[in-house]
Amino acid sequence: MSENCIFCQIVAGDIPGRTVYEDDTVLAFLDANPLSPGHTLVIPKAHHERLNDTPADVAGEVMSTLHELVPAVEAAVDAPASTVAFNNGEEAGQEVPHVHGHIVPRFEDDGGRPIHALVTDRPDLSDDELDAIESDIVAEQA
Ligand code: AMP
Ligand code: ZN
Repeated sequence: MSENCIFCQIVAGDIPGRTVYEDDTVLAFLDANPLSPGHTLVIPKAHHERLNDTPADVAGEVMSTLHELVPAVEAAVDAPASTVAFNNGEEAGQEVPHVHGHIVPRFEDDGGRPIHALVTDRPDLSDDELDAIESDIVAEQA
C-alpha cells in the first residue's frame, strides 16, 4: 500500500468504493465521476504506478478481468459498445498514479469520441521515420 494513494485506500477499505469484482489480485469498482453509466475501473490491489511498473503476471490478471467485465458492464447498462483504455502516465492524462484500466460504456450518439480524437495535430511521419521507429521498438525488446 502506498500512503496517500486514493486507490490503495479503496483496496484497504479506508474509503468506500462500489465494488463490482474482487479477487486476491484485482479490484474493480465504479468510477466516482463517471463519463457514462457503468464507467468502471479495474486495478491491481498492489500499488503499481503505471503499466510499465506492473509485473507481467499482475498485468495479465488485470487484462483478464477487463476481458470478463467488459461484456458484464455493457449488458448491465445496455450499452452496445465500450471504450477500454489506460491513461498510462501523467503526460497521457493519468491523474491517479495507481495503474487502472477504464471501461467506459458507449452509446449511439453519446457525444463521446474515439481514441483517434486524442490528438488534434497528428505528426506527419515519413516512411524513413516510421522504419526507424519500428526498428527502435524491436531493439528495445532485445
Ligand atoms: P485517470 O485520469 O486515468 O487517472 O482516471 C482517474 C479516475 O479515477 C477518474 O475517472 C476519476 O473519476 C476516478 N476516481 C478518482 N477518485 C475516485 C474514487 N475515490 N472512487 C472512484 N473513482 C475515483
Ligand atoms: Zn495505490
